[in-house]
This record gives sequence, C-alpha cells and structure tokens, in this order.
Amino acid sequence: MHQPSFPRSRTVFKDIRVFDGTRLIPRASVVVDGGSIAQVVEDGTISGHPEDLCVTGPDLTLLPGLIDSHTHTWHDFVLTDALRFGVTTTIDMVTPVPVATRLREEQRQGSVYHRADMLSAGAAATVPGGHGARGGSAVPTISTPEQAPDFVNRRVEEGSDFIKIILEPGVGRLEAIPTLDRDTLHALVGAAHHCGKIAVAHALSRECALEAIRAGVDGLAHSIMEGQPDEELVGEASRRGIFLIPTLTAIEGALATGAGAELASHPVLGVLLSPYWREHLASSSRALPTAPLRFEIACSFARQAFLQGVPILAGTDTPNPGTAAGASLHRELELLVACGQAPLEALRAATSVPATRFGLMDRGRILPGLRSDLLLVTGDPSLDILATRQVAGVWKHGRLYSSNASSLV
Ligand SMILES: [Zn+2]
Repeated sequence: MHQPSFPRSRTVFKDIRVFDGTRLIPRASVVVDGGSIAQVVEDGTISGHPEDLCVTGPDLTLLPGLIDSHTHTWHDFVLTDALRFGVTTTIDMVTPVPVATRLREEQRQGSVYHRADMLSAGAAATVPGGHGARGGSAVPTISTPEQAPDFVNRRVEEGSDFIKIILEPGVGRLEAIPTLDRDTLHALVGAAHHCGKIAVAHALSRECALEAIRAGVDGLAHSIMEGQPDEELVGEASRRGIFLIPTLTAIEGALATGAGAELASHPVLGVLLSPYWREHLASSSRALPTAPLRFEIACSFARQAFLQGVPILAGTDTPNPGTAAGASLHRELELLVACGQAPLEALRAATSVPATRFGLMDRGRILPGLRSDLLLVTGDPSLDILATRQVAGVWKHGRLYSSNASSLV
C-alpha cells in the first residue's frame, strides 16, 4: 500500500479507550503518522509535536476500521457510503469483473481515501442456469470437475482474491434449480487451494453446508436457513476449522422485521444514510411464510458454531433488500451479540478475525506498522455493542474522512 500524497502530519489520539482488534485497553494513546499507526502507548504519555493533530475527549473508544465480510459492489457508492459508518474494508462475494478490476487497480495505486477498500471474489463458480447465472446473465459457469482447474485459473487471472462457490439447489424457492455436483465442488476447492486461494461457499441448507465443509472449503458465506444445525454439522465445521459469516441482517431483511426502520431512525446512523439506503432499508425481498423459522435456524447455527469455536465473521450481504451499506454492519454486530457473542467477540468478528482469515495482515488491528484505518466512537462498545453506532470520526489510511467530533480535534 502507498503512503498518501498530502504532507505528512501526525494525529495523536490521546488518553482514550482503545479496542486494538483483540482486546480493550482502558487508557492508551495512539500516534498515526501518515498512512500508518506509528505508536500505541498504554497508560503512558507520549512526546508530542506542536503540529500534531490531537484527538481527545471523555468516553471515546478508538477501533480499527470495521471489515464487512459479505458485500456485493454493484456500484461505487456501496463502498463510498460504507466508509461513513466506519467500514473501511469490504469483502465482496461476487461482483461484475470489470467493476472489481477497476476498483482493485485504483486501490493498488493508493489513491482511495473516499471509500472503503474491497477484496473481491469477482465471478462465482455456478452451473449454467444456477444461482447467479439465471435470467440470461452472461457470467462464466462450470459443469464438470475437469473444468475446475481452468475455471479457477481464469478467476485468478482476472484478479479474484478468493474463490466463491455457489451450492444452491433452490432453498426457500418454489422450484429446484440446478447446482454443482459433489465432484465438481471438490475439484473447485482443490483447484482454489492449488492456486493459493481460499474457497468460500454459499450454502443455505444443512445438507449443502455439510457437503461444502467436507469438500474442504475455508468458510461459509451465510448461516443456514433450512434443516437443523445439529451436532454433526457444527462438529464438522469446528473440527475442520472453517469460518462462518452468518449474514443475519440479510436473512432478517427478507422478514421485514422493522430493524431497518430502527437503523434509519437512529440519531447518528440515520443522519448518515442517503435517501437511497433509507428506502432500501425499508424494503423486503419477499415475505416468505417460513421466514421467521428460517431466521431462528440461522441464529441457532451461528450460536452453536460460535460455542464450538468456529470463527465468526461479521457480514451484511449488502445490498440485499433490508440492508444499507455500512449501517447494517452495526446491526449485524447487535445480532451476533443477541446470538451469544460477548460484545468484545463481536468486535473481533468485524476486525481482526476477518483480517486474519482473508490474509489482510496490514489491517484489522491497532498495532504499530499497520494501516491507520480507524473508527472513533463515543461510549464503550466492549460493554454495549450499540456504542459502535455513535460514530465520532472515521479515518481512512490516516486521512480524516468524516468527523462528528470536530470539537474534539
Ligand atoms: Zn451475497
């Protein structure tokens, strides 16, 4: 990553609470020099320069910029709007390849201060007529195990950061749809690993999730919504060390539970929402009669997986109906806590855990040498997860993007 081109200046976050990606430090100071974190000093004083920008104040918590581990970047504004809410990195689980290529190239040039960064799967592995390849959309497809090496190589050539695999026989639909067979699934995972890429599966039923786990995928892009998350499934997920991105917000979005309206009326988040996302939050994909039951199943799998040590990653599946870029990650954190995670664990699910699992070793923590992507909030989110919504300032690569706390600076 490149250093910013503006004159180097230091920002000092002085005597505030710091969540460093893994633990809470009750009182610390953090020095940011350009695009990097220069110093983290616990309980001590740092020597300042007169030209330093000093940020301090009562009841503030500094966190690493948040990572949304499941998005789709159909438009640039999915990334620009996410940043307002403290989401500095998104993990895109399928987007048109030209869009992913352009955004990735701009990031490589180091000029992206106005939007969240994106890691992307690009095109997903699906069968002709399968999920993601319906309605005549011109996306690459795969039908046989023999095609797997070439299919994956093409994705790697296009720049895919990881391989997304879709196992979808039609969960929640009225009709079955074609999907990958077991041999092709195994061949895809093998080809991804051969290329040094992780494989992440869309699998919404117990059977599909179990099949994906046994094929060796590295993670599941959703919780399940069909079948019971029993000991066989959860135990297999735990033993094989996969991660889970429950995307409870997206599942909830199909229910029209009113959570979207609650986010839209939040005194801080609501002000940051554009009219587009405000309307989108109120939308619902389809009112399935079985939706409440499906939400219960999804929460139950997330809860059991977490209790058995499966790493949980916070993701929203924005822009699905009922979600809003950036804002919905705050709702996902609340739902993870409702599923049994401690607030501190939920915070890890949006910072250090996804950074580790997706190989983003330059972010997700507040440590010297790492990127200065930062979120400042009022309150202590390690005690009350809703405090993440009290956005006081966002820094992308050391540059102040937005601040509701100009009086603090
Ligand atoms: Zn998705």
